[in-house]
Amino acid sequence: MASLAPANGIHVGGRWEAGELGTYDVDDPADKAVLAAVANAGAAQATAAVDAAEAAAAEWAATSPRRRSEILHRVFELMHRDADDLAALICAENGKSATDARAEVGYAAEFFRWFAEEAVRIDGSYGSAPAGGVRTVVTRRPVGIAALVTPWNFPAAMATRKIAPALAAGCTVVLKPAAETPLTALAVARLLAEAGVPAGVVNVVPTTEPEEVVGTWLADPRVRKVSFTGSTGVGRHLLRQAADRVLNASMELGGNAPFIVTEDADVAAAVEGAMIAKFRGGGQACTAANRLYVHADVAEEFTRLLAERVNALVVGRGADASTQIGPLINERAVHRVAGLVDDAVAGGARVVAQAELPADLSGYFFAPTVLADVVPDARVVQEEIFAPVAPIVTWTDEAELLALVNESEMGLAGYLYSGDLKRALQLAERIDSGMIGINRGLVSDPAAPFGGFKQSGLGREGAHEGIEEYQETQYFSVDWS
Ligand code: NAD
Repeated sequence: MASLAPANGIHVGGRWEAGELGTYDVDDPADKAVLAAVANAGAAQATAAVDAAEAAAAEWAATSPRRRSEILHRVFELMHRDADDLAALICAENGKSATDARAEVGYAAEFFRWFAEEAVRIDGSYGSAPAGGVRTVVTRRPVGIAALVTPWNFPAAMATRKIAPALAAGCTVVLKPAAETPLTALAVARLLAEAGVPAGVVNVVPTTEPEEVVGTWLADPRVRKVSFTGSTGVGRHLLRQAADRVLNASMELGGNAPFIVTEDADVAAAVEGAMIAKFRGGGQACTAANRLYVHADVAEEFTRLLAERVNALVVGRGADASTQIGPLINERAVHRVAGLVDDAVAGGARVVAQAELPADLSGYFFAPTVLADVVPDARVVQEEIFAPVAPIVTWTDEAELLALVNESEMGLAGYLYSGDLKRALQLAERIDSGMIGINRGLVSDPAAPFGGFKQSGLGREGAHEGIEEYQETQYFSVDWS
């Protein structure tokens, strides 16, 4: 990591500070080795971050949209300049493969390009009231200081998907990255400063005490917005706190994506799609295919082809060039998924594929697995797996399929493979998910509105909608008599 040594301080008001609570160790999940001792913030530093965001707010909001846009464009360029180093940091602290980490950096950077373009397209309207005698002028203002809270599974992209629209809208932010993966967010903070983002506009506060830091922010009357990505349980908890102050809230929460294969689908293409939808990032994506519903007519072929692919997956350290699947994030995740697989097998499921685990790995590895003959109410189908395990359920009746798909309280992503596009769209319109890949295993796109139905969240990130999450609408009623 020659040009981008990991930053490990609290980034507040443009300064790098030691932690109020000392330091904590960030580990490499591939071998549990300590990567860095990172500054650990407490409540006082959380407040100092809001002080810095407040001090910078008026000037940033008054900065011309063109200037904000140019700075965001510059961040995009710098992320590409340092893409190798950023990807290496992601590999190290998250564990994902170098290919997945590189793809994440590209995706993460793209939010700066997209929102650089949106920054200069903030519009309003001017109209005449129907009764006459009044003109209405509608305008959009930055919502104010935004508290951003992000998970470990996409250490760069989950942060940039919030920072870029917030800055484009003219907001200043305080960001708490996941304790497991602060290094990437801190590296992005350094690039933001290099690109010309003024001190205090983006403050990054790593901590092992999320309740203390985020709780401090949500109770602070100067904070006007919370945007959270993470589990539904923590999202619900933050929403309750946000309710006390009627805080503007965006929530990107858990998923339980169905992956549907119809009897007329191109089975080989569906298997390719499943490899991406299920195994990208080792299955640790909120959009990961969680339950594979395959029509009985093609189930044998689909299962055989998927098993061949999964048996051949190379598991290892993310940084090794040959690695396709890295470790899980921690020990708890390994125990959890082992329990889900055991439960499925006890309920009659068959393990039809399991990739080999290299013997010399001491990290949090779990072998990519395919399960066939899984019953629809197995825990592995009902719960978010967040690991490289693909449970296959067969179906024959479309109405029954849709009932199974929609009984979940989650509704983030879904995938549908069919040879008939009209049928696919008709089915997709009846699936209660915010995003559906049709003959594609990937839905994430900075130009598209990312978000879920039901308990998968509130609001959208990316697209035109993404910037609106950081704006207040204001209108002036002007006497025109
Ligand atoms: P998590 O909810 O445990 O943690 C997410 C963030 O919340 C972390 O920064 C964590 O430190 C913080 N946090 C935890 N407890 C908190 C508390 N009491 N108060 C304030 N902050 C707190 O989730 P995770 O394990 O990091 O990520 C996995 C989950 O995130 C999965 O459910 C996944 O589906 C979801 N996710 C959703 C999206 C999406 O866009 N919908 C994207 C990625 C991940």
